[in-house]
Amino acid sequence: MKKKITIIGSGFSALAASCYLAKSGHEVDVFEKNDAIGGRARQLKSNGFTFDMGPSWYWMPDVFERFFADFGKKTTDYYELVKLSPAYRVYYGVDEFIAIADNLAEIEATFEKIEKGSGNVLHDFMMEAQSNYNIAIKELVYRPGVSPLELVTIETAKKVGQFFSTISKDIRKKFKNEQLIQILEFPVLFLGAKPSDTPSFYSFMNYADFGLGTWHPKTGMFDVVKAMEKLATELGVKFHINAGIDQIIVKGKTAKAVIVNGRRIDSDIVLSGADYHHTESLLEEQHRAYSEKYWESRVFAPSSLLFYVGFNKKIQNISHHALFFDVDFQQHAKDIYDVPQWPKEPLFYANFPSLTDKTAAPDGMESGFFLVPLAPGINDTEALREEYFDKIIERFERLTKQSIKNNIIFKRSFCKNDFVAEYNSYKGNAYGMANTLMQTAFLRPKLKSKKVNNLYFTGQLTVPGPGVPPALISGKLVSDLINKQLIEQ
Ligand SMILES: Cc1cc2nc3c(=O)[nH]c(=O)nc-3n(C[C@H](O)[C@H](O)[C@H](O)COP(=O)(O)OP(=O)(O)OC[C@H]3O[C@@H](n4cnc5c(N)ncnc54)[C@H](O)[C@@H]3O)c2cc1C
Repeated sequence: MKKKITIIGSGFSALAASCYLAKSGHEVDVFEKNDAIGGRARQLKSNGFTFDMGPSWYWMPDVFERFFADFGKKTTDYYELVKLSPAYRVYYGVDEFIAIADNLAEIEATFEKIEKGSGNVLHDFMMEAQSNYNIAIKELVYRPGVSPLELVTIETAKKVGQFFSTISKDIRKKFKNEQLIQILEFPVLFLGAKPSDTPSFYSFMNYADFGLGTWHPKTGMFDVVKAMEKLATELGVKFHINAGIDQIIVKGKTAKAVIVNGRRIDSDIVLSGADYHHTESLLEEQHRAYSEKYWESRVFAPSSLLFYVGFNKKIQNISHHALFFDVDFQQHAKDIYDVPQWPKEPLFYANFPSLTDKTAAPDGMESGFFLVPLAPGINDTEALREEYFDKIIERFERLTKQSIKNNIIFKRSFCKNDFVAEYNSYKGNAYGMANTLMQTAFLRPKLKSKKVNNLYFTGQLTVPGPGVPPALISGKLVSDLINKQLIEQ
């Protein structure tokens, strides 16, 4: 039976859910507080430069194909993908970097050159990582986190040891070279926790990296937002921007309506893709399932200091994605997770989309995105942002042997305070709640409210976790739960 469904927010999870729910025949309205859709994946356009404001690594292309296939479509019906080659570079010193190729055979050869014997070790490690990927990403993550039994399969039973060892230990047993170790630890950073707190089963992220490759939608990650908006609109979803939800109205124990810009919107189902903690703050206290103490005790993914920068010349000696791991990786991780503080020597990441996409910058110019991961909840001031911008630009200039600072003609920063103000993000987290062993699957905040009927959640604080592919999956999982409940009613 057709129901009236209100969706809060327009990030990837909400967009995915809107498509599934509209396809099931419901009347779906999406309300976004900002003036554009896409959530953390919004686009910034200024002075002829275009930036993806959040995600830039298009990993796990199979998950995107599976999403569009659910609607009888293919990604190529909406956008074109380019496989990046090299996938990325990792800098360790002045003009000293490792380039990760777009195929495993070449990556194995690179490893072998750096550490004798490591090519074959990597080959075996990747076979296991692929097997984990097939179990985790093709099956387990499509389960709704309702019961612990969802994780118990013949395949996971065989790998139970991998849930109780960490990726960090596992990699260190197999590889000795510190640079190779850091490259292999990098992919799990997308899950939001330290490699030393992430189970070794999560090596499926290494398969996503080396096995499936790094892709780029032709004119940026925002192509995917546009594609999903188009699909949703074709299915009948209505979008409302500048439409922040101020309150969720509950009668008895059932969600009945939302208040948006002072107007009441009656709804049969309310689904929130906004940060979970914020959504519960839209409820009266007795209807909240999780206490402040609960949120305080969770491990959150880092916040970030971001810079969107336009240069009036082409930058030399770079690749589309570049990681600057020339300082102490462990110390920076401690500054995020153990004793939260601004890192003395920050690791940073940069991307230059205009190397792949000529429309991202005016002719002869370059657009650059710089990211420093930071502890959530950290003190954020304009002076600190500038101090860190100077630090990373100076390092960038030294490591890539060129001067760029005097060529900046556009610059915008974004940090913890903006994550809070623009996305209602808990402690200004950039990408949700970390996927540690104790925060996986049924141990994450639930898709269905434990206290309020007809109220559901989706996105990076719930199941399955942070990242764009998980957000698409989260939208599917919650839509299935909603439809199941409606059939049972
Ligand atoms: C800097 C950065 C880099 C990243 N890099 C990558 C990457 O390379 N690859 C990758 O896969 N993932 C990456 N991620 C993670 C990925 O972007 C996110 O996990 C994903 O986009 C989250 O989607 P979501 O639907 O959960 O939430 P969001 O995108 O946060 O959407 C929530 C939406 O709800 C809206 N909202 C909040 N409160 C209200 C309200 N009261 N009323 C109405 N609307 C409201 C917000 O404005 C927002 O639009 C990155 C994230 C960041 C921030």
